[in-house]
Amino acid sequence: MTMRPLMFFGTTNLDLCFNVDRLPTPGETLIGTLARNPGGKGANQAVAAARLGLQPYFYTRLGDDEAGRQLFLSLTKAGVRTDAVEICQGEPSGSAMVMVGDDGANMIVIDPGANLNATALTIDRAAAFIEPHAIVVAEMGIPVAALERLFELKAEKNFELIFNPAPVRPGLSAKAWASIDYLTPNQSETFELTGVEVLDFDSAANAAEKLLKFGPRAVLITLGAGGAYYCDESRSFGLPAFPVKVVDTTGAGDAFNGAFAAFLSQGRAVRDAVRGAMAVAALCVSRRGAQDSMPTAETVDVFLNQQTVLELE
Ligand code: ADP
Repeated sequence: MTMRPLMFFGTTNLDLCFNVDRLPTPGETLIGTLARNPGGKGANQAVAAARLGLQPYFYTRLGDDEAGRQLFLSLTKAGVRTDAVEICQGEPSGSAMVMVGDDGANMIVIDPGANLNATALTIDRAAAFIEPHAIVVAEMGIPVAALERLFELKAEKNFELIFNPAPVRPGLSAKAWASIDYLTPNQSETFELTGVEVLDFDSAANAAEKLLKFGPRAVLITLGAGGAYYCDESRSFGLPAFPVKVVDTTGAGDAFNGAFAAFLSQGRAVRDAVRGAMAVAALCVSRRGAQDSMPTAETVDVFLNQQTVLELE
């Protein structure tokens, strides 16, 4: 099987994760337990792909601090190639405060630190690691000017581009939107971009039609426990989520995006890649943490075989 090279562009944060019985209301003080976990959308996505056995490159910016060293180590340990990672003198690493309630719902606040200082120039340096025929994945924690440059490079480098518009920011040019191959928002990002509330596959179809007008070749909306909906000019399909017991939804979308890219790079057809990505994301939400809960290829195969048996019964 020919594998296509894979490279992620995105953010890395140290997540301070508080587990609480339920999420607090304004003014309320609760007792919880704290875990410090490596996180950040881009890092989670790259780790999800690496856990599946790929060796993706990752461009991110880390501070020259203790958190940065810890984050760098966790990327290396997971099998992510760190050649393009920037260690930034005098800048703090990104950090996030994550609260997870007993029902798996979360609340997140981020201080982006060094992540915010990516520029067209730093992207040009990192682009040396984009290999021919690569699949490139980017998320929106990277400043828009840097994203613009990355998307512009598509004409020259001829990669396939997956864009996860998270968190949604304004200012991306029409040309940049039109260079996207797969646009992968979740429900709230879809709402921010289109004003359409996605509750089921019908409303997802409605939103996807609007998103296609932005210019991407295909739209892939994730609906949490509602599954995922794919749409391009010639076809569309919705797949229901795999039924699992939810423990922690942190990183579900990242697991999905990282795995979708990984399966495409292995040459799987789109529908098969979506189904595989949903299995990876289902396994991710059934365990605590983000990067630590990304499954291996073997675990995913076992899970998918079990599902096939359930579907046949
Ligand atoms: P995000 O984490 O970006 O908000 P979603 O919540 O849409 O992303 O989840 C991404 C994917 O993860 C979904 O398409 C689905 O396949 C899987 N997923 C999320 N929540 C669940 C769940 N409760 N049960 C099973 N799969 C889930």
